Amino acid sequence: MLDNKTHKKRLLTQLNERLKSRERIKSRTINCYKVAHSTVNKGFLNGESIERVIFFLRSKGCEWSTTEAGGCFMCGHYFGTTTGNPLPKGAFYIQFMQEYRKYDFSKYPMLCIYNAGSILNENEIPQEDLYQILKEINDNKNIKSIVLESRPAYITDETLDLIQSVIKDQVVEIGIGLESMNETIRDLCINKGFTFKEYEEAIYKIKRYGNIKALKYLSIKPLFLTIQESIEDTLSTLEKLNGLTDIVSLEPVSVQSGTLVEFLFTNGIYQPPKGWIIKELFIELTKRNINLPFEVRIGGFEFFPIPEKFISNCPNCDKKLYKAIDLYNSTKDPSGILTLSCQCYGDFKSLVSVENEHIAKIDLEERISYLISELLLPVRTKLTS
Ligand code: SF4
Ligand SMILES: [Zn+2]
Repeated sequence: MLDNKTHKKRLLTQLNERLKSRERIKSRTINCYKVAHSTVNKGFLNGESIERVIFFLRSKGCEWSTTEAGGCFMCGHYFGTTTGNPLPKGAFYIQFMQEYRKYDFSKYPMLCIYNAGSILNENEIPQEDLYQILKEINDNKNIKSIVLESRPAYITDETLDLIQSVIKDQVVEIGIGLESMNETIRDLCINKGFTFKEYEEAIYKIKRYGNIKALKYLSIKPLFLTIQESIEDTLSTLEKLNGLTDIVSLEPVSVQSGTLVEFLFTNGIYQPPKGWIIKELFIELTKRNINLPFEVRIGGFEFFPIPEKFISNCPNCDKKLYKAIDLYNSTKDPSGILTLSCQCYGDFKSLVSVENEHIAKIDLEERISYLISELLLPVRTKLTS
């Protein structure tokens, strides 16, 4: 018999999977020889402010999204893919080259290549394509740093050897969505589908390669957590990551279409994070004297399909918020974030108090049970019938 926690988790993942598979059956015409999107954003490299280029390769999607679990609750990258249909041989390399030729990389020393999943998973991108792409990058001495993404399962000696056999002088960052150090949060609130042990094994492999670095994504305010719980979880994760990462990107949850996050947001059950949560995090880091021995970025803006809603405060101060985040990302100076002020800060503080008073006292599993019985069960029945 299933224990209570497993049963609740199954109901959530079934709904998550239903939401994804509804999109899967919609017919769509996709050009497999053109990237889904590319953009330029601020960055920081070797102590200097830089601009970096981001390619969103058109892909078949993250394998974790095609499982019965339906992928991570906040992730809608799958809807910008061929939803599991394989791409023609060599298509990734063609996509890459077409976009690559458009940019003058003497202005952009960092190139991020995302494939809406794990670029090191041979089932998602053939190693031959990856090899060819990396070879082009290696020949371009203007590019100093490359960012790739992968789940830990595909970070193997074989894939790391492949990278190192091609990339000679540049630094390669491998982004992994650890999201939280807390196994329950990673499982129940994010549906990540891997354990800390798996993450740790990947990190120890990466450490053996001098020019390959580990970049960690941490989820800010995932489903079912209060603001304060998310702050505490992030601070505790940051403290425990000492020696287990080279860079951390704090990723405030955004609302991407077709996800469980969007479903709960449109039903008034979930509120994406306010920008103030970032200010609170920086205040607490200073107050608690937490010195982090790795670079910290603020991310969560670079997704495809572009989310419906990002971290925000109010129309009067959103511009200041984004400017402060940009300033932080390109200088590592948090003063713009720490000095943010607006009338809406008071509303945020009141919300924190209300959540602490009324929600934090309810055990996380009990909260989820309530949601399932009140809202998810009737909807799931409709979706499965
Ligand atoms: S967040 Fe990453 S691992 Fe999770 S479903 Fe999206 S692409 Fe896959
Ligand atoms: Zn405001």
